[in-house]
Amino acid sequence: MTDPSTFDGRAGARSLELFERASQHIPGGVNSPVRAFSSVGGQPPFIRRAHGCTLETEDGASLIDYVCTWGPALLGHGRLEVVEAVCTAARNGLSFGACAAAEGEFAALICATVPSMRDGMVRLVNSGTEATMSALRLARGFTGKNKIIKCDGGYHGHADLLLVAAGSGAATLGIPGSAGVPEGAVRDTLTVPFNDVAAMAEVLAAHRGDVAAIIVEPIAGNMGCIPPAPGYLEALRTLATEHEAVLIFDEVMTGFRVALGGAQERFGVTPDLTCLGKIVGGGLPVGAYGGRRDIMSTVAPLGPVYQAGTLSGNPLGVAAGLKTLQILIEEDPYDALEQRTAALVKGLQDASASHDIPAQLAHVGPMFGLFFTARPVANYDDAKTSDLERFSRWHAGMLERGVYLAPSQFEAGFLSTAHDEGTIECTVAAAAQVFENL
Ligand SMILES: *Cc1c(COP(=O)(O)O)cnc(C)c1O
Repeated sequence: MTDPSTFDGRAGARSLELFERASQHIPGGVNSPVRAFSSVGGQPPFIRRAHGCTLETEDGASLIDYVCTWGPALLGHGRLEVVEAVCTAARNGLSFGACAAAEGEFAALICATVPSMRDGMVRLVNSGTEATMSALRLARGFTGKNKIIKCDGGYHGHADLLLVAAGSGAATLGIPGSAGVPEGAVRDTLTVPFNDVAAMAEVLAAHRGDVAAIIVEPIAGNMGCIPPAPGYLEALRTLATEHEAVLIFDEVMTGFRVALGGAQERFGVTPDLTCLGKIVGGGLPVGAYGGRRDIMSTVAPLGPVYQAGTLSGNPLGVAAGLKTLQILIEEDPYDALEQRTAALVKGLQDASASHDIPAQLAHVGPMFGLFFTARPVANYDDAKTSDLERFSRWHAGMLERGVYLAPSQFEAGFLSTAHDEGTIECTVAAAAQVFENL
């Protein structure tokens, strides 16, 4: 499927020139740091077009895309019905800053789909960061408590209170994980290792009566791909209820991806609030948070928790998200996505094993990860035992052979409905060659 003459996806002369130009006026040449190749070396190829599961670089290479714009492109790039819905909406006006019919339709569809919102409400915002930040303010406003608990290695966007890189093991009081975050902003952020029920119970007990919310990625996707241990999410549900803390599933990555109703549908555990982003906007900047009606009724203008947005619920984002959701409901692609991802992961597993390369592979639906370590990976400390130097060579080798993977060991990979069997076979064949030289 990929033309062998255009295999090499590394940055060529044109990309290097564009990177140079961008770097003069954009910090690091990128508008989001994950796009830089700092952790794998080299420079990023520039993309001029994307279609289906393919990216076309400014140097003329075609790449099989496993980043899928970091998740949103579940239906592949440039899905015609979605593009048409956006064009139609655009012709009627780019933004009203006033009420429009499609917002209610979109909200109803989201609520019908996501279990925790079924009898509840949802508010649209413009990014995943806004969704988590707003959900936490709401949890604090609703409970009248201040402390929040997150997992070590869990990413919930770049709001001050969530930028905490705490020590491993026992929970520690928050230490800012970025310059510019005042200690006060993270004083009430507590962290525990992912998949560790005892640690969560301990922190809740130590701060009894003070914890407003537990926020968790139900499948960790920002430290690689780490599924929840059996019973983990159920235990969080029980603990949150017991301590009257709001349980927030950050499904910005997993929502509409691992099942139509997200990880909460897949694992049968219902949080109090859910954060959405990525797929919910069908490729445009949309986020959402919602859940229990009593909690959501605390949001302005119904209640005292303020949260707003000039472009929130804008017609283009709503059109793209609504059409994407309608297609997912109609086509129900989840079994096919599961099978293809399983085939990819098995192919990578076999190829790594046959070359004696220690690797931990995991996938949940069309979300997958590969760690170069012999240690089973259940949390961030395990993930950090990965051989990062080997990952860099793996990444460069795959790119050279026309496969575009996220430029970091600690990111998940994504399939779309446009990745067919042939795509998977090409990828596994490329991987077998790369493993040979790792
Ligand atoms: C991407 C992501 C976010 C942040 O979303 P943005 O739209 O980048 O602000 C938050 N939480 C999770 C789990 C994510 O994967």
